[in-house]
Amino acid sequence: MMRQYELVERVRRYNPNTDESLLDRAYVYAMRAHGTQKRASGDPYFSHPLEVAAILTDLKLDDATIVAALLHDTIEDTDATRDEIDRIFGAQIGALVEGLTKIKKLDLVSKQAKQAENLRKLLLAIADDVRVLLVKLADRLHNMRTLKWVPEEKRNRVAQETLDIYAPLAGRMGMHDMREELEDLSFRQLSAEAYESIRSRLQALKEHNGELVAAIERELSDAVANRGIGALVKGREKRPYSIWRKMELKSIAFEQLSDIYGFRILVDRMEDCYAALGVVHTKWPLVPGRFKDYISTPKQNDYRSIHTTVVGPGRQRVELQIRTREMHDIAEYGIAAHALYKDAPGVAAPGNRESNAYAWLRRTIELLAEGSSPEEFLEHTKLELFHDQVFCFTPKGRLIILPRRATPIDFAYAVHTGVGDRAVGSKVNGKVSPLVSELHNGDEVEIITAEGQTPPAAWESIVATGKARAAIRRATRAAVRAQYAGLGKRIVERAVARAGKVFSEERLAGVVPRLARTSLDDVYAAVGRGEMRADDVVKAIYPEWAGPRVEERGAPHGEGWFELERGQSLKFKIPGIESDPDPKTAIPIRGINRELPVHFAPNGGAVPGDRIVGILTPGEGITVYPIQSPALQEFEEEPERWLDVRWDVDEDDPQRFPVQIVVVATNEPGSLAQIAQVIGERDGNIENLRMSSRSADFTRMVIDIGVYDLRHLNGILADLRARPVVSSVERVNG
Ligand code: MN
Repeated sequence: MMRQYELVERVRRYNPNTDESLLDRAYVYAMRAHGTQKRASGDPYFSHPLEVAAILTDLKLDDATIVAALLHDTIEDTDATRDEIDRIFGAQIGALVEGLTKIKKLDLVSKQAKQAENLRKLLLAIADDVRVLLVKLADRLHNMRTLKWVPEEKRNRVAQETLDIYAPLAGRMGMHDMREELEDLSFRQLSAEAYESIRSRLQALKEHNGELVAAIERELSDAVANRGIGALVKGREKRPYSIWRKMELKSIAFEQLSDIYGFRILVDRMEDCYAALGVVHTKWPLVPGRFKDYISTPKQNDYRSIHTTVVGPGRQRVELQIRTREMHDIAEYGIAAHALYKDAPGVAAPGNRESNAYAWLRRTIELLAEGSSPEEFLEHTKLELFHDQVFCFTPKGRLIILPRRATPIDFAYAVHTGVGDRAVGSKVNGKVSPLVSELHNGDEVEIITAEGQTPPAAWESIVATGKARAAIRRATRAAVRAQYAGLGKRIVERAVARAGKVFSEERLAGVVPRLARTSLDDVYAAVGRGEMRADDVVKAIYPEWAGPRVEERGAPHGEGWFELERGQSLKFKIPGIESDPDPKTAIPIRGINRELPVHFAPNGGAVPGDRIVGILTPGEGITVYPIQSPALQEFEEEPERWLDVRWDVDEDDPQRFPVQIVVVATNEPGSLAQIAQVIGERDGNIENLRMSSRSADFTRMVIDIGVYDLRHLNGILADLRARPVVSSVERVNG
């Protein structure tokens, strides 16, 4: 076990101003607090916090972080209290230890929801001070290193959680060494055989290639030095997990992997990076498609480096990373490398300079406030952890960072939820562009908005960010609910009127609890969805009402004709529907951009001018049928589903309605074109067209068109009939 002076020595090596007595006090305090507690391995428990602190000294962290690491298990596992820690070590360290205690309580459960909830709590704890995350990662690393002592049945869960959450978090924070070690330790637990096989092949390769790494190192080193560039060249073998990922990703065998070795060239100045790159590229052939310049365009977590692959000494493909030492520190230690968190006693929150990694963390935490479900949260946080980003800008130059494949819709929601909800169009780099297009690095995006919009539900499956998805889901849920509530309200009003009463919302409000609902809107929505009968609502308001009169319920009111063939028709009667809908109680029907959940009869549609009825389907809303539709027979036994509806057409803003026609045309060149032309000239909109059967002489076409009303339709039908190529035209259900 590391001695007290050894710990102090490790810290002093990178931080000469360390507060030795503070470290000493923490060492003694934690050791005493844990007393004779033992780890599963049989070691004294105190060895664990000490190891965690040691890991953090490798990251060169400040005193408060080291002390918090020593104390991180004391509140939870010993008699120590927050008050006492505050008193002895100050409130800042007290807060860190408490943050770690909160996370420690997170129960490890394999269930996805629980894992998501854990991540949520973890990120919330980090929100106050990112150093909590650094200690937590070190804690997890030490627990993974000693995983063999954990009970067998818990090991896989711990390893899976590490692979899912902690390793990507470490990577996202730019701590690549830590990420790789966490990945390897998890991989070894979860796929022991795969791990072993890769390790033994690496071993065999090493024996076969002998001093290859050293030879390439030397050759690279000499080549760069010959040009007067001071550089340190380091070669290394990739880790088993990263090799396995590559094999999996590219479905290739180990033997085909060409870049098992990676080399780094570390130089002093940024110019030297490009100079060294020039040397490498003139000396060895470049493998196309592998060059990346993260110096001019850094990754989101501040990672900067040049990547390239060349066919190097011994015809071996060699992967190269070229960067300055400073860039290297950030690449290795990430967020921990920022001076911000070092030697700044009393500074818990970040100052003016905020690293990208920290900004990402903050954004992720903001997502929590969006209130999406834990599963959703995990889903997109995981996605965001793994995926690359695109950098886009607002017209005013504000940087908006989005995951790859993001659309202007994502952009709009990233700017503000209100902007997303009201988005109707976008301009990308000054050009009008569809909201569903894919954004690219450097795009300048302007969102065009309009008041009173609801995002289409279909957007949910198009967007790439969890924030947009959650907001769209919320907005569409609210809109659908409002639609059902609006529909339900009309149904209730109509039922009250039919019962011969005067509708009063106040009276209804008084009986909401009796209907086992919590609000008026709940009642309306339940009726609109068909979950509650309007008559039951009337009864709740007017208990003395005897219910619908018998003759009213079953009596035939409506009437119409079924057209069998041209010229022949069959009269029929409809139960429970008024012959003439009362404009005050009938539900108004508009076009496709409806304000109610309205559909039109699946075959044949319905257009203004038709006499129509509505059929209420629970959970779906109203389907509008022309009164002559044969499909209505199906609903004869269910009078409670029949609704009076009327057309409500805005003359100034005519809308199209769906109708289906069947055209039989002679087979001659251009007949289809002629039919399409007639419909087009008459301003009909062909929405769908199928050849339903084709004989030697005739073709039968079923055409869905959008028309304004019956007159419009009849005009089109007449025009079609006038064409010599057309042998017959019929409206389906007409
Ligand atoms: Mn611990």
